[in-house]
Amino acid sequence: MNATVGDILRVKGSEVECVAPDATILDAIKHMSSRKIGGLVVTGKNGRLTGIITERDCLWKTIAVGESPRSTLVKDVMTPVSKMSTVTREHTVDDCMTLMTSGRFRHVPVMDGKTLIGLISIGDVVKFTIGSHKAMIQSLQKYIEGSL
Ligand code: AMP
Repeated sequence: MNATVGDILRVKGSEVECVAPDATILDAIKHMSSRKIGGLVVTGKNGRLTGIITERDCLWKTIAVGESPRSTLVKDVMTPVSKMSTVTREHTVDDCMTLMTSGRFRHVPVMDGKTLIGLISIGDVVKFTIGSHKAMIQSLQKYIEGSL
C-alpha cells in the first residue's frame, strides 16, 4: 500500500488536541474523555511542542504508582519531545504502522519542519486501511464482473 500520512490527514484534518505542561493529569484525563481520544500533544508557551501524553502515562506513571492525578503534572509523566517519534506527510501508512508497532505506542505527531500539522492514532491507521481494502475489493469485484 502506497498511501501516505498526507492521505490520512486529508480525511481526518489537521486539528490536534493539546494540553499545557503545567496542567494536572486530571485535567488531561478530562480533556481526553470529553473528546473521546487517548492522547494529547503537550505544547508550551507560544505553542512550542514539548511532548506527548497518553492514557497509558496517566494510568501507568500516575495511578499505578500511587500518585494523585489531582496533583501530578503533565510535564512529569509525558514523553518529552526528545524521545518522541514523529512522521511527515510523505511517510507511508505502512511506515506509520511499523513505527507504532516497533515503538509500542499508538500515537504519532505529524510534522512539517518544526510545525505540528496533525496527530495520527492507531485507530486512524486501522480506519484508513479498512477503507482502502473495501475500495480495492469493490474495484476487483467490478473487474471480475467485467464492468471495468
Ligand atoms: P500510547 O500507546 O500511544 O498510549 O503510548 C504508550 C507510551 O508511549 C506512553 O508513554 C506515551 O507517552 C508514549 N508515546 C506515545 N506516542 C509516542 C510517540 N510518537 N513517540 C514516542 N513515545 C510515544
